Amino acid sequence: MRTAPLTVQARTDSLERLRRSTERDSELDILVIGGGVTGAGIALDAVTRGLDVAMVEAQDWASGTSSRSSKLVHGGLRYLQMLDFHLVHEALTERDLLISKLAPHLVKPVSFLYPLENRVWERAYVGAGVALYDTLATASGTRRAMPIHRHLTRKGMERMFPDLRHDAAIGAIRYWDASVDDARLVETLVRTAVSYGAHAASRTQVLDLHTTTGGAVSGALLEDLETGERFDVRARAVINATGVWTEKTEALARSGGGLRVLASKGIHIVVPRARIQGDTGLILQTEKSVLFIIPWSRYWVIGTTDTPWHQELTHPVATSADIDYVIEHANAVLARPLTRDDVIGVWAGLRPLLQPGTKEGTSSAKVSREHTVASPTPGLTVIAGGKLTTYRVMAKDAVDFAIGSRATTLPSITHEVPLVGAEGLRVFQRQARAIGLRYGWEQHRMDHLLHRYGSLLGELIDLVDARPELAQPLHGAPAYIGAEIVYAATHEGALHLDDVLMHRTRLNYEQADKGVGALDQIADLLAAELGWDAATREKEIEAYKARAKAEHEAAEQLDDASAEHVRLQVPDLSPMQPLEGVATPGTGTGSVGPGAAGSAGTTGHA
Ligand code: FAD
Repeated sequence: MRTAPLTVQARTDSLERLRRSTERDSELDILVIGGGVTGAGIALDAVTRGLDVAMVEAQDWASGTSSRSSKLVHGGLRYLQMLDFHLVHEALTERDLLISKLAPHLVKPVSFLYPLENRVWERAYVGAGVALYDTLATASGTRRAMPIHRHLTRKGMERMFPDLRHDAAIGAIRYWDASVDDARLVETLVRTAVSYGAHAASRTQVLDLHTTTGGAVSGALLEDLETGERFDVRARAVINATGVWTEKTEALARSGGGLRVLASKGIHIVVPRARIQGDTGLILQTEKSVLFIIPWSRYWVIGTTDTPWHQELTHPVATSADIDYVIEHANAVLARPLTRDDVIGVWAGLRPLLQPGTKEGTSSAKVSREHTVASPTPGLTVIAGGKLTTYRVMAKDAVDFAIGSRATTLPSITHEVPLVGAEGLRVFQRQARAIGLRYGWEQHRMDHLLHRYGSLLGELIDLVDARPELAQPLHGAPAYIGAEIVYAATHEGALHLDDVLMHRTRLNYEQADKGVGALDQIADLLAAELGWDAATREKEIEAYKARAKAEHEAAEQLDDASAEHVRLQVPDLSPMQPLEGVATPGTGTGSVGPGAAGSAGTTGHA
């Protein structure tokens, strides 16, 4: 399969295709709004059915919730307590499909200990639940993708997790799930979709939806946020996959219908791997939900929280109270308690919480406990809820609904379409030692590279062969080599310094300095690829430094409003536009009036 790079030119070409959609016989089959995991999954689903599809994302790919999750690909052990077997089975099937076929380079098995406080009834109760979890994973008849659970005595548990407090548990059950770099999954989905012919433009916002006189949605008004240019686009079907922005986006159709989605904040903290001695993750029950202590290569990720969010949606931030809550709950079982000084990184994300029922006049196609597909008006499909793990099922449901009866002759085939980097992975795994020796990369670096790129590592090696200095680690961020930064711009659609530090790498939370110590070198590498002059380079650096400082200061605040106030002191370089009173460029379509914008703003957050 030919793998298309996400270049600046590819973005320009996609925008050009979008512009041409208003010409005769050129309208798109589907326009997808939102480049999180749901939108990217929809674009891939649609293009692999043979449809002409375009996807636009107002920020960088995955900037919304899809880069801010717990990064687990899981069935959700806690849903078993709610007896939702179908949901767990569906998610476990997706988990195993991703690991075994679709994205084995990105999605990795990770084990968790469930510590037990009671020797008899709890071991029997939790043991039965975990056994069922394992059984549901194989209920579809596919080969087991990971080991089955095991019961551990206190001794066995302490061997596996020496930093678990002796009196915290009498033993444990070890079970398996999986983890993924969420932003990377999204970028890989976008690249796969584009490789099959989808058109994709980041930093391109839908400002308005166009409707026919009968009220059907027929297209949209877009703004290229990099240039400020506005233009119209026509599509037979528009799919709204905008997560916590769902209500704002569906209000642009002015039908009054749609889904109700609230935002709930969850935060995670990051501590160095050496700070906690343990070879596995932990899952802990909290008053409201569960807390995960998740091992990553160089650090632990600990979270999460669940609190209503009433601020703006673009830059959710953690408060000092959130961080203290997570530390306190982790310390309940850790032998060497964590303090604020151990925390090297933090992030906050907003869950798109689907509210029961739909707005008046909305036909809804599929309601699962987790996600719903609905149509507030003909031509517009809205999908919301769900989770990262089940993005493929959500995408299938949304496209089935949007294309109606054509779905019978054009069924989804994404269950048999590996994402880019998956094919040929095993060959690269076998060649890893030889590649490492040739380029001076130790095993941990080869693991890191294969995990991030899979068989696309060949493209990275091409860069290194042309410029051998790119094989070297970055001075201020040695986990990454120079070629990864260049590749982010030449193949992965990064347009700004932010995109590289937030999503292509995760330096924003992986290092206590948020990657600031590596900024000069990263900016030099990007400037050469993206054609930045000295002033642009400086502006990018200053903007990121200001952002990093504001995030640090926000995390010192006690409440959401104060933290958000501090964070918003630093503007984005190409900010999302407010949807109030947007003017169209004049192709005979309507414009959004302040009334409509007002209702768009009423998302229940106030
Ligand atoms: P988003 O990722 O938010 O994407 C919507 C996109 O739409 C945004 O990027 C936004 O910029 C864009 N947009 C908005 N308006 C416009 C416009 N007008 N024009 C163009 N673009 C627009 N799931 C799991 O499976 N496993 C987990 O471990 C897990 N952990 C989680 C932990 C937390 C704390 C949270 C908050 C969620 C977690 N989830 C998890 C759930 C999962 O992350 C989300 O369900 C999923 O990422 C939502 O993706 P989305 O594409 O629907 O929304």
